[in-house]
Amino acid sequence: MDSQLAYYRDTWAEINLDHISYNMDEMKRHVGEDVKVFAVVKANAYGHGDEEVAREALNSGASYLAVAFLDEALALRKKGIAAPILVLGICRPGDVRIAVENRISLTVFQQRWLCEAKEILPSNARLDIHVKLDTGMGRLGVRNKDELKELESTIKEDPRFCLEGVYTHFATADELNFAYFERQMERFQEMISWFEARPEFIHTGNSAAALIHSETHHNAVRMGISMYGLTPSPEIEPVLPFRLKPAFSLHTKLVHVKKISKGERLSYGATYEATEDEWIGTLPIGYADGWIRKLQGQEVLIEGQRVPIVGRICMDQCMVKLPAELPIGTVVTLIGKQGEEYISVNEVAEKLHTINYEITCMVAGRIPKVYKKNGKVKRIINSLL
Ligand SMILES: *Cc1c(COP(=O)(O)O)cnc(C)c1O
Repeated sequence: MDSQLAYYRDTWAEINLDHISYNMDEMKRHVGEDVKVFAVVKANAYGHGDEEVAREALNSGASYLAVAFLDEALALRKKGIAAPILVLGICRPGDVRIAVENRISLTVFQQRWLCEAKEILPSNARLDIHVKLDTGMGRLGVRNKDELKELESTIKEDPRFCLEGVYTHFATADELNFAYFERQMERFQEMISWFEARPEFIHTGNSAAALIHSETHHNAVRMGISMYGLTPSPEIEPVLPFRLKPAFSLHTKLVHVKKISKGERLSYGATYEATEDEWIGTLPIGYADGWIRKLQGQEVLIEGQRVPIVGRICMDQCMVKLPAELPIGTVVTLIGKQGEEYISVNEVAEKLHTINYEITCMVAGRIPKVYKKNGKVKRIINSLL
C-alpha cells in the first residue's frame, strides 16, 4: 500500500490491531471457554473505526458484535460484515423490517413495541430478540414481573419472534464499592427466574464487570472499552486481572517552525505572549479534529520530549512551544509513546475532567485512520476521500 496516496494532511490516528486482538484474547482467557464475548463497536468502535475493529475482534474469537442503534448495524452490513449484530439501544418498531432483512438482532422491552412490530412483519420473517431488564440503571428495560411475563408470552406466541437473549446493564461496575452493583446483580437473578424458558444468551457484564466480577459472567460478556485497551475507570486499574494494551494513538507533524521575540504574541485573542525569544511550531490539528480548545496547555511529544500547546487552539491548527529549532516534518505525538515519554488517553481525559471513553469518541471523522498489523500498515481509511 502506498501510504502517501491515502491522505494529504500529516495528521493521523494509528490503530494497533495487534492490541485489539491481544485484549480480546486476554479477555477470552479470563472469562473462560463457556463465556462468549460480544465486541462492542458502537460509535465507530469508540472512534477506532468500526469495520477494521469488528473484523479483528471476530478473527480473535468474538461471537457477536454490538452497536448502539440500527444505522450503526447497517453500516457494518454495508461494509460486508456478516456476523451477528445486536442493537443495544432502541429501534423504532416501524423499522423492524429493515432489521430483519439485514439479520440484525434487536433489544426489546416494551409490550407495545412488540404489538406494533407484529403488524408490520411479513409472515416468514424472523427477528432475534434480546430482552433488556432494568435492574437499576434506569435507562432502558423491563422493571417488573407482570411486564416481563406479558412480554415473554407475546414473543413465544409468535413464530416470527425468537427470544435469543436476556441482559441488563450495570451502573457502577467500575467502582470498588460493590453495594449497588450487588443489588443490581440480585435483582437480575430474581428477574431471570421469572422466565418460563431461559434464552440462549444471558449477559450482564460490560468491560468493568467482565474484568472484576467473575461471578456475573453467565454465558456472555459485552466488551467495549477494554477491547480498545483502555481501563473502564482509574479506580479499578490496580485490580485488573491482566494488562490492557491501548490500540489508539494520535500523531501529526510540524508544518511550520519560527522564532518569535520576547513580547510577541500569537493565536486568536493574542493571549499568549512570549516571555523570552521562543521557537514556535505549528501543528495541523485543531478543534474541528476533536482536539478541542480546552486542551490549550496540554502537552504533546516531540523528539521524546513534552512540549506545551500555547495560545488558543484554532479550528484546524494549533501552536506549540519548541525546546529548540526543529525541522519541518518532525513527528508530533498527541496521544501515544515517543521514546520514554507517554501521553495516555487517560491523561487527556484527566485534563478535560472527563473519562477516557469520551476522548477516542471525540476524535473527528476527518482524521484518517492508519491500521497497523504485525508492525506493518494494513490499511488506511480516510473517510473524506
Ligand atoms: C456501551 C455498552 C457496553 C460496553 O461497555 P464498556 O464499558 O465499554 O465495556 C456494554 N453494554 C451496553 C448496554 C452498552 O451500552
